[in-house]
Amino acid sequence: MQDNEKRLTRKAYAKINLGLDVVGRLENGYHQVRMVMQTVNIFDILTFVEAERGIRITTDCGELPTDENNLIYKAARLLLETCGIRKGVTIHLEKHIPIAAGMAGGSADAAATLLGLRDLFSLEISDEQLQQLGVRVGADVPYCIMGGTALAEGIGEVLTPLLPAPRCSILVDRPDIQVSTRYVYEHLDASGMWEHPDIDGICAAIAGGDLEGITRRLGNVLETVTIAAYPVIARIKREMLASGAKGSLMSGSGPTVFGIYDSREKAQAACSHLILKGLGGQLFVTEFV
Ligand code: ATP
Repeated sequence: MQDNEKRLTRKAYAKINLGLDVVGRLENGYHQVRMVMQTVNIFDILTFVEAERGIRITTDCGELPTDENNLIYKAARLLLETCGIRKGVTIHLEKHIPIAAGMAGGSADAAATLLGLRDLFSLEISDEQLQQLGVRVGADVPYCIMGGTALAEGIGEVLTPLLPAPRCSILVDRPDIQVSTRYVYEHLDASGMWEHPDIDGICAAIAGGDLEGITRRLGNVLETVTIAAYPVIARIKREMLASGAKGSLMSGSGPTVFGIYDSREKAQAACSHLILKGLGGQLFVTEFV
């Protein structure tokens, strides 16, 4: 490593949905959503090193592309081109967020890339401008730039920050099944009938610091489709509730399920319970960020 080499490291945090509703569909096929987004303390680590030219991605994760199909690459290229940067960058991704799990791992990486490269190249570009670029990479990228607790509307890019959600412990279980986001949204349209979660009620409970009010209203319309295809998700929810969760829900289009507990001890005991029941996939005991 040269002494004057410019490098920096950033964390990319995963999210869960405390509520997810679909309220319409645009002519271009995108779904209009109302989602309560919450950052959790599960993160990838990205390291950025300035290079002479080009964008190069390395990763410890064998499952991900390192070419222009990686969302990190797309975000980096968009930012460097937009800002007319002639330099290049090498980006290393240490992957911890479950992949294709409903936790916005790819969007989180893209957001961290925009924020990291802004700092690496000292770019004069605001968070709002980064969000406008980010939505071209993915609908969840603007939220991942903002982080924390937020209401996401439109296709996910119209953001209203909310007060931090009350403290609690979260058990995350990503079962070992593959769920296609496209399949879930297409079948939701076909089914037509679903119960809408009380998104405004969740936002009000967050504003009032009312954990019980949040857990009582957890709801995700996409569960109807994903659980019909993969009943194991309902079993995980049941076992989380049986082991003391105040509420349990599938995140995004799945298959990740989370449970909310009022102590870390309870979340840890529930984690052991799931393993005993043969329902433990990728497991994390974590908290809101
Ligand atoms: P969302 O919650 O936004 O639906 P997700 O958690 O379901 O996202 P991701 O982990 O973001 O899904 O990955 C979706 C797809 O994007 C994967 O099939 C993966 O191959 C691809 N992908 C491209 N770049 C990345 C990246 N840096 N991290 C994860 N996935 C990536």
